[in-house]
Amino acid sequence: MGTGAGPRLLWMHWQRQRCGEEWAGSMDITASGEDRRSARRDLPAMHRLLGTPEALALLGAHPRALVVRCMREGLAELRRREAASFCGESFFAGVADRLRAERTPGLRRVLNATGIVVHTNLGRAPLAVEAVTALVEASRGYVNLEYDLEAGRRGGRDGAVEGLLRRITGAQAALAVNNNAAAVLLALAGVAAGGEVIVSRGELVEIGGSFRIPDIIEESGCRLVEVGTTNKTRLADYAHAIGPATKAILKVHPSNYRIVGFTASVGLAELAPLARRHGLVLIEDQGSGTLVDMAGIGAPAEPTVGASVAAGADLVTFSGDKLLGGPQAGLVVGRAAEVGKLRHHPLYRALRVDKLRLAALEATLRLYDEADGAPLAVPAIGMLARDEATLERAAARLAGLLDLGRQATVSVEPSVGYAGGGAMPEAPIPSRAVAVQPLTMPADELARRLRLGEPALVGRIARGRLLLDVRTLQEAELPEAARAVREAMGCAM
Ligand SMILES: *Cc1c(COP(=O)(O)O)cnc(C)c1O
Repeated sequence: MGTGAGPRLLWMHWQRQRCGEEWAGSMDITASGEDRRSARRDLPAMHRLLGTPEALALLGAHPRALVVRCMREGLAELRRREAASFCGESFFAGVADRLRAERTPGLRRVLNATGIVVHTNLGRAPLAVEAVTALVEASRGYVNLEYDLEAGRRGGRDGAVEGLLRRITGAQAALAVNNNAAAVLLALAGVAAGGEVIVSRGELVEIGGSFRIPDIIEESGCRLVEVGTTNKTRLADYAHAIGPATKAILKVHPSNYRIVGFTASVGLAELAPLARRHGLVLIEDQGSGTLVDMAGIGAPAEPTVGASVAAGADLVTFSGDKLLGGPQAGLVVGRAAEVGKLRHHPLYRALRVDKLRLAALEATLRLYDEADGAPLAVPAIGMLARDEATLERAAARLAGLLDLGRQATVSVEPSVGYAGGGAMPEAPIPSRAVAVQPLTMPADELARRLRLGEPALVGRIARGRLLLDVRTLQEAELPEAARAVREAMGCAM
């Protein structure tokens, strides 16, 4: 082949060459004409490769810069491996794989068939339609985030959210920050920095993702004073620990674990008079953000934020995206004087939330405000409220849609779900699952394929079967889940 051979001709030459064969024979494509004995340098030059039909096809489907980068990476890898031969077919297959991986979004949609409603690994609470709409509207253009439209000058940032939270919880004031970890940090820094904070030894918990109460107290500039024992703390323990440097008492919802058996702890209603007498701020990290009576919708009972306010907590902190069912946020409600201190603390500026989340949060809280009882339009609440008859019907529908014939045994079975997000940890919620026992592959392999699907589907494996709990699948997601399973099993679609 002469030096003037066009890309097309060269390509035909590569195709004639079977993969694995020595490349050294078609020397004219290499970038430099020197040193052809070094096999690893005998790779085609980029500008030549770019003219091939395979490259042109990729360039038609992907941005040029990305195609070039992926091809460069492909060549670099061949060079690294000191590949003795070049095979166009496998090279471009590799480039196509790279492009696919590069262009797949990091954050992908997941169908949650775990039965765990607030699943931290799966992004916690899905938003209500109303919240999504508000978020999209706020994101499109400008909003009056810090602008008083009536007065025509600068205004407050989270006024609407504050008003709603005050009405829903009965607190005097409220504010929103990035997440509950931030809310706890700000609360401690705002009212107790430089002083001592008393916490029961039974509540010095770690809440996952390295949120540890002793660490957060230290980071907030307070000194931790532990009282009581792991299983028992009494009012007198708190009273004895109060000294001139004491500034606050912190109660922590143990969230993801329970101390059971021979136990005692002191409630907010008992602590409030003690705190008041000594001029201390009583803070509760409530965690889940339960705003309505959960037992009323048939879910395990969980203390509400309003009950903590009524019991005399000065500041209550909680997440926006756990049982509250909104976007990620940390909320603080409580007495106006204390919340005011947090609002004016320099950390508030670093921890505050953006317009998108404020929009979603406001819309979510509006659903609570306007609901007669629990707002079932908030997906987390709606899922917790689904009764067993509804779940049975959903599971039967999913099992019917699967239609796997002889490839698997499929049955509808009782299942156990959880609220998740650190709420009601020991309270299983009866649910229904579709159990799939594939006969053509191990259940693990089916689960793996489902995780890599689009959308991904995540269930549980139990005794060699894949369980798809329907409590956390919305009605419209059932056909998608069925399609995902059929595709992963290699069924005709
Ligand atoms: C979940 C939780 C936190 C952490 O909240 P994030 O919103 O994840 O930052 C802190 N305290 C308690 C009691 C919790 O349950």
